[in-house]
Amino acid sequence: MSDATLLDLSFDALSHQLGGLPAYRARQIWQGVFGDLAVDYNDITTLPRALRARLARDLPFPVADPVREEESADRRTWKTLFRLADGETIESVTMKFSERRTVCVSTQVGCPIGCPFCATGASGFARNLTVGEIVAQVLHAARRLDSEGDSLSHVVYMGMGEPFLNYDAVLDSIRILNDARGFSLGARSFTVSTAGIISGIDRFAGEKIQANLAVSLHAADDATRDRLVPINRRHPTAPLLAACRRYTERTRRRITFEVTLFDGVNDTRRHAEALVDRISDLLCHVNLIPYNSPSNAPFCGSSPQRIRAFEQALSRARIPVTIRHSRGTDIRAGCGQLRSDAGDARKDEESACPPTR
Ligand code: SAH
Ligand code: SF4
Repeated sequence: MSDATLLDLSFDALSHQLGGLPAYRARQIWQGVFGDLAVDYNDITTLPRALRARLARDLPFPVADPVREEESADRRTWKTLFRLADGETIESVTMKFSERRTVCVSTQVGCPIGCPFCATGASGFARNLTVGEIVAQVLHAARRLDSEGDSLSHVVYMGMGEPFLNYDAVLDSIRILNDARGFSLGARSFTVSTAGIISGIDRFAGEKIQANLAVSLHAADDATRDRLVPINRRHPTAPLLAACRRYTERTRRRITFEVTLFDGVNDTRRHAEALVDRISDLLCHVNLIPYNSPSNAPFCGSSPQRIRAFEQALSRARIPVTIRHSRGTDIRAGCGQLRSDAGDARKDEESACPPTR
């Protein structure tokens, strides 16, 4: 057998790995893992004991150890710290909204893009996650929701890392979780957020799977975006927005632009007008994100009044816009605020910025 773990494999790859075993064994395993949310092979009682022991030896499962969980005061958001087989750590966040149950998953250990406002970016980059490590985060969230009589409805790739720098693993994880023989989560329930990797946007536009795309635009003029998203110097706004246009034309699907608002940096009337000017004829929706400023952040979040004024400027131009309702700020569980801060003395420090909501 190869180094693959159970959660790295598509249904066909698993069937192939099981070689001489009857075809129904792969179905039983997928039913156990994705349908009944088994935590290990011993939970899959439809399999003979000897086979369970053989699989545990040859095809590792589980692949990520949840070592710590922090819950918000209202118990509707929790952040899970996982330790991976090589000792690296990652986090994911599960959020209960009124109608949605969403898990925000990591795709890399750290992030090489290094946006100055992002705690993940500040933590550097170690490696890409495997397909199995991404799938494991989703299954963990699904199990905990299931134990509360609830079920997961959405998966957003907005945790640690840049999904399109780990493109194949991200898409394979979506295909596995979407597969009707297993977890069977609808394609529209997945959203991948990119800092603006143009080749990834073009590839994503050509995928058969109808998952959603979000682009972290933050600013529509290059001088401002260069400050916020360092890859803008290599992938500036003109080719980025051209790729977004190709995406909407090819898929006929709306793109979401994420704009995290920073006081005096990208939240002025001039910035709102520049944004309107560049995206008003695109099939899009803008999600304004109040900034959860980590301690030692170089920027402060915009005030609720400035966020509201920015929203109104877009609304007046008939651009669909919403303000993201932030969850779990008391446990530093804002998407993008994730990092492995176990034992990090700074985590209890207060930010020097005023609250943004
Ligand atoms: N790397 C991808 C996906 C992960 S970041 C990307 O940048 O799109 C997901 C989103 O969280 C991005 O829009 C990012 O700008 C935002 N974000 C990062 N840190 C944040 C913080 N402290 N508060 C609010 N949003 C943050
Ligand atoms: Fe990476 Fe996204 Fe954070 Fe930028 S905002 S450093 S791209 S995780």
